[in-house]
Amino acid sequence: MPLHIETPLIASDSLSQAAGRRIRLKLDNLQPSGSFKIRGIGAACKAHARTGKRRFVSSSGGNAGIAVAYAGRCLSVPVVVVVPETTTERARALIRAQGAELVVHGAAWHEAHALAQSLLGEEDAFLHPFDDPLLWQGHATLIDEVAAAGTKPDAIVLSVGGGGLFCGVVEGLRRNGWQDVPIVAAETGGADALARSLAANERIALDAITSIATSLGARQVCKHAFTLAQQHPVRPAVVSDQAAVQACERFLDDHRMLVEPACGASLAVAYGQAGALADAADVLVVVCGGVTATAQQLHQWHAALDANP
Ligand SMILES: *Cc1c(COP(=O)(O)O)cnc(C)c1O
Repeated sequence: MPLHIETPLIASDSLSQAAGRRIRLKLDNLQPSGSFKIRGIGAACKAHARTGKRRFVSSSGGNAGIAVAYAGRCLSVPVVVVVPETTTERARALIRAQGAELVVHGAAWHEAHALAQSLLGEEDAFLHPFDDPLLWQGHATLIDEVAAAGTKPDAIVLSVGGGGLFCGVVEGLRRNGWQDVPIVAAETGGADALARSLAANERIALDAITSIATSLGARQVCKHAFTLAQQHPVRPAVVSDQAAVQACERFLDDHRMLVEPACGASLAVAYGQAGALADAADVLVVVCGGVTATAQQLHQWHAALDANP
């Protein structure tokens, strides 16, 4: 039994109307950990448990850390998550609520990450948030489910941070014979490492992450994501933080579901960037989810970005 669930695939009247084409949603926000990450992390954790690993270690204060904590609880394997001081109270509480040991260390992620690495013993497994073939295999199940439902989309919209979801979706398209389906890769400005790499024709690193969409905040996409982006048809779509937050608010009203701006970036493409969808008549949007934002936080961002875009 996998640790993720098969999620609903629904047609969205409100998004279809806004986009002027058929929009279907793959609702991975409904995963037990609140994001798609449990697909890959669940698969990786199960593989590590099978090979005798006795503890899972993560350095993500976001949805990856929450997914590792959830997987450890399901498999009765202890989990330690090391996060930097910048991790919100809410994220810390969500990790602790899954029964994981939470260690707060360092001013920035790389310090937390270095401590997590130093903790690793023989019987520990480290779970990377996006750069691991085990993870991509698990994420690919999202496309297996869409393929099993039958209708091939003309394009797929998904959000890109470090590129783990992207790698998994390309893997899923390939193994289902759908490798010609283009991917619209949504990022927010200030976290647009893939769009800039494609424009520069080399894998670049951003100097800093300036977007509020922290779940997209990898300074650089992983090597495999860049390699695949050069082989697979990809259309980069960069949206503003403002558009991503407003898409989350609108989605909350339209579908009564709360997601993070990292996911809002993909929704913003459907709500407002018809150009990126080109002539695709039937578009699949991966609703990747994310649990670290509240409705109040969305409204605060909205007000702050209106005042100071
Ligand atoms: C991790 C995450 C992403 C980005 O995924 P990558 O695999 O890093 O590209 C997007 N949205 C949400 C909600 C996430 O948790």
